Amino acid sequence: MEDTERYISSYSREEDLDTEVSLRPRRMEEYVGQDKVKEQLGIYIQAARQRAEALDHVLLYGPPGLGKTTLANIIAQEMDVQIRVTSGPAIERTGDLAAILTNLAKGDVLFIDEIHRLNNAVAEVLYPAMEDFKLDIMIGKGPSARSIRLDLPDFTLVGATTRAGMLSSPLLDRFGVMCRLEMYGVDDLMRIVLRSAGILGVDIDEQGARNVARRSRGTPRIANRILKRARDYAQIKADGRITDDVADSALRMLEIDQLGLDHIDRRLLTAIIVKFAGGPVGLDTLSAATGEESTTIEDVYEPYLIQLGFINRTPRGRVAMAGAYQHLGYALPAKMADDVVQMDIFGGAQ
Ligand code: ADP
Repeated sequence: MEDTERYISSYSREEDLDTEVSLRPRRMEEYVGQDKVKEQLGIYIQAARQRAEALDHVLLYGPPGLGKTTLANIIAQEMDVQIRVTSGPAIERTGDLAAILTNLAKGDVLFIDEIHRLNNAVAEVLYPAMEDFKLDIMIGKGPSARSIRLDLPDFTLVGATTRAGMLSSPLLDRFGVMCRLEMYGVDDLMRIVLRSAGILGVDIDEQGARNVARRSRGTPRIANRILKRARDYAQIKADGRITDDVADSALRMLEIDQLGLDHIDRRLLTAIIVKFAGGPVGLDTLSAATGEESTTIEDVYEPYLIQLGFINRTPRGRVAMAGAYQHLGYALPAKMADDVVQMDIFGGAQ
């Protein structure tokens, strides 16, 4: 379900693991882009440190691969505390959560990835822990069972999710800080590529880095992955240096186009344009027509296609936009062509 089969999946793949840690920025100043989030968090961290208090609970949300785990680690580093890392699906029973919470020290960061996948029973224990730093546990069974309340150290919960909309409102309400991570622009991705190339000792020129950045779907994890494949290509098929041409050839081999789209993106767009006359088409219908899970379409493919302006989400379903027709070489439907001409007229008149 998690789309790891696909080369440009924004979820972590096995081939990322060896470098994921070494390429991860450790301090806020090394973390490229996301200026608004960095500024906000920087202030809250400094203020909490001055008061010698734990930082308020932080929710980080946005598509996979944008740096949520990285940021959680940086928060712990900047607060000078330990971080404990887990994920929603990994905490199966309330006892698992109780064990984690009672092992935290004052100020520690508890990072829960995919927090939208916590089950309800566990979430019920988490609420008072976040709100009052109390842990309610049941002792015994049957009529003699009773609940006792334990004090927990003040800690900071950092939650990460690809879908803030799936969090219950009692959980959302307990986060003092909410940060939405945005897809990265080409300039930021280029800085990330050059930084990673420096760490990995990869020879790359500016045009090569820009080429890799342009095709990384706004996602640092993908930028790093493409960089590594382009390095292999350069080593075997060229003189070891990633230039514009070498990046082009390496990406052609991976069937990733100029905008970073692969065959699944093209299949999705083609389905909307051809099978559904440009839409609107409901997510489930689109999922059935393409054989892709609707959650994967929503979390992974769509954010970038929306960012490109190729797809629009409307209350009645997904709609293909003019850019998608043009990119795939389809003629614009008459109505859309009229709209484009109209826009040109307005553009010219201003
Ligand atoms: P997420 O938790 O959102 O899925 P990660 O934090 O695991 O994403 O980031 C994936 C990889 O991308 C990291 O290993 C890191 O090398 C790189 N990365 C993410 N954000 C940045 C950034 N702002 N600057 C530099 N590298 C980044």
